[in-house]
Amino acid sequence: MNSARDAGLVSLAESLSGPAADEPPAAEVSVLIVDDQQGLRESLRSLLNSRGYGAEVAAGGCAALTRLDQAPTPDIVLLDLVMPDMSGLDVISAICERKLETRIVVLSGETSFDYVKQALTRGAVDFLRKPYEPEELCSTLARVRQALELERRARVAEKRLAQSERLHRFMVDHAPDLVYLLDPNGCFSFINDRAAAVLGWPRETLLGRHYSVVVQEQDLELARFVMNERRTGDRASRDVELRLRSRLSAKSAAAQGELVVEVTATGIYSPGRDDQEGAFLGTYGIIRDVTERKRAQEMVRYQAYHDLLTHLPNRALFRDRLELAVTQARRNRGRLAVMFLDLDRFKLVNDSLGHTVGDRLLKQVADRLRNCVRAGDTLSRFGGDEFCLLLPDLRSHDDAAGVAQKVLERLSAPFQVDEHELFVGASIGISVFPDAGESVEALIQSSDIAMYAIKGRGKNGYQFFAPEMNAQFSTLLLLERELRSALVNDELEPYFQPQIDLEAGCIIGVEALARWHHPERGLVEPLEFIPMAEETGLIAQVDRCIQRKACAAVAAWRREGHADLTLSLNISATQMEQADFVDGLLALLAETGLAPEGVRLEITESAIMREMELIVPKLRRLAARGVRIGIDDFGTGYSSLSYLQRFPVDTLKIDRTFVNDIRVDGDDASIVNAIIHMARGLGLDIIAEGVENELQLRYLRQQGCHQIQGFIFSRPVDRETLRRCLTLGVDEMRRVAHEFSLSDSA
Ligand code: C2E
Ligand code: MG
Ligand code: MG
Repeated sequence: MNSARDAGLVSLAESLSGPAADEPPAAEVSVLIVDDQQGLRESLRSLLNSRGYGAEVAAGGCAALTRLDQAPTPDIVLLDLVMPDMSGLDVISAICERKLETRIVVLSGETSFDYVKQALTRGAVDFLRKPYEPEELCSTLARVRQALELERRARVAEKRLAQSERLHRFMVDHAPDLVYLLDPNGCFSFINDRAAAVLGWPRETLLGRHYSVVVQEQDLELARFVMNERRTGDRASRDVELRLRSRLSAKSAAAQGELVVEVTATGIYSPGRDDQEGAFLGTYGIIRDVTERKRAQEMVRYQAYHDLLTHLPNRALFRDRLELAVTQARRNRGRLAVMFLDLDRFKLVNDSLGHTVGDRLLKQVADRLRNCVRAGDTLSRFGGDEFCLLLPDLRSHDDAAGVAQKVLERLSAPFQVDEHELFVGASIGISVFPDAGESVEALIQSSDIAMYAIKGRGKNGYQFFAPEMNAQFSTLLLLERELRSALVNDELEPYFQPQIDLEAGCIIGVEALARWHHPERGLVEPLEFIPMAEETGLIAQVDRCIQRKACAAVAAWRREGHADLTLSLNISATQMEQADFVDGLLALLAETGLAPEGVRLEITESAIMREMELIVPKLRRLAARGVRIGIDDFGTGYSSLSYLQRFPVDTLKIDRTFVNDIRVDGDDASIVNAIIHMARGLGLDIIAEGVENELQLRYLRQQGCHQIQGFIFSRPVDRETLRRCLTLGVDEMRRVAHEFSLSDSA
């Protein structure tokens, strides 16, 4: 309530509770004596003065009117009828015309009936004959005085009533709530001003209308017992929630036109006589607008159970629904499935393109997922890039597999976020009640473990939970923890595998391959930890560590006289997709003193395809600085050559599975043969890896591939051994490397 209103209320209240307004103190009654006879005037004046009246005199009609035109108006005019200047009757008329609040008592020698009648009809209240009897005159005046007093009191009472009415009206109209009265038919007979502010109905238009015009249709039945309540006392309605219709536009408090209110109402009855109940007069009710409060409560509830980015149910709501579904499945001996879904490449998008893009991508993913589920299913976001799907009423495993397949298909199409075309796969773990667990906890955990299993096997697919995964999962977790401490304790180092040029007969380069000196398990091969490192994001640290050490070693050897020696580095997709990949690598080269021409990045086809738009410009920048780029495991990936033209590749590395397939001398139809000829056509260098025997070596040489990497010359060896090998001829080198391998594996 504003302060101006407060002030109004206070003054009203004060005026009501204080003495009655305008009530004059019981003052003396004033009388104006109008007569042309001076003697009479004066004797009257002294008589009246002596009886407690305040008496004044006027010598004629004109003088009387002149006096009466001034305040204060005398209470009584004692009037002679026959006066030379103006007749008394005319004076009476003039007084009435002026609507003066005075009582006229005629005192006259003229006593004809007609005259008296005229005086009374014109407005005189009483008539006295001249000569007057003092007692009669006094009693007449006393009567008039009494009438005056009664009238005054009535006026005061009326004024009080009006004030009281105004005060109550004010209180009702300024009440924060709607106050109404209904007649016995349920039509508004009263409603306060709040009607306009809350319902958008001016009060006048509501009066006489049935209450149902303001009630939402779905609540009409309830309203019947509340709005026009007939009960009284404890049985009457209190704070019953109801939805009303507002005519206000959406920008006001009652947006969408729906008002939530609490109604308190009671029936009104006439006072009954004896035992009889009084007649039902209608309903008195109060309506409180609780829309805002309800909306706030709903908001809080919504936030507690939903993910605000995607508006999907959150983990808490998912658990509730799963709990319910499990109870039902148990009762019906049914099945249900929980699908744990983790996006494969989300972290990458988030890290390289920022959270805004990441958030938009998540929303789009959520939209596509929504389209894959049925009405009874629950799709929820667990946080980050994890989603969980509950399929109640499962008929068979095939149903769940079908849904998983559909989800994977939907997600495989590219996402357009701003100017970026993004690809995300998903790994889905599925647990089925009751096989994979009977509790909410167990089901969620099993699906999570199954999800990890699919990640470990190269991602983008689905997998049902199997009990033996528990063990695998805990091994994986252990490995991750150990790798973290390996990074801290510096247990990783690069091994180097020589690359031989058959024509020059010497080592022209080395490939750095990560090795982990595990304190208990000894030497750990990369395939055991590189995929896990990729998955957990640890790969970035692993690569940085290996690359730093390898660059430092090769830079030193180049300074020691092997100036043309090149270093091949395996680059993971994750590393390339990092925002600071190019700058980081160039800084590393500068730091370790290795010239960019001394480095060849080995990139797999699948790594390039993963994020072509993002990676190609980066590789161009590096190539412009002199860094060489080779395709690793060539032939195993997409076998699409179009990408080779998009950035400066200079070497193809034939994958060892193809080398392994070489069996017969002079076989022109082998894949190796095709790759070599193609590389030559494109003007690219070619190197074969995984060369293990003389047959393979001879074949490659025959086909014109002179760069060889493989066990036939040397397994990957440590830094010291390689340093020695560099100074030796090929045969000597093979012996030294062989000795190292024997001792290393021992
Ligand atoms: P890759 O880049 O294709 O490396 C060649 C792999 O073939 C190496 O396995 C090497 O030891 C093996 N190899 C070489 N010659 C022969 C041979 O004649 N016969 C056979 N059977 N194998 C041969 P390794 O060291 O186990 O590395 C496996 C993979 O792990 C690498 O494949 C590479 O993709 C990845 N990797 C190794 N080190 C790193 C690293 O520091 N960073 C990243 N991102 N990946 C790495
Ligand atoms: Mg490699
Ligand atoms: Mg390879």
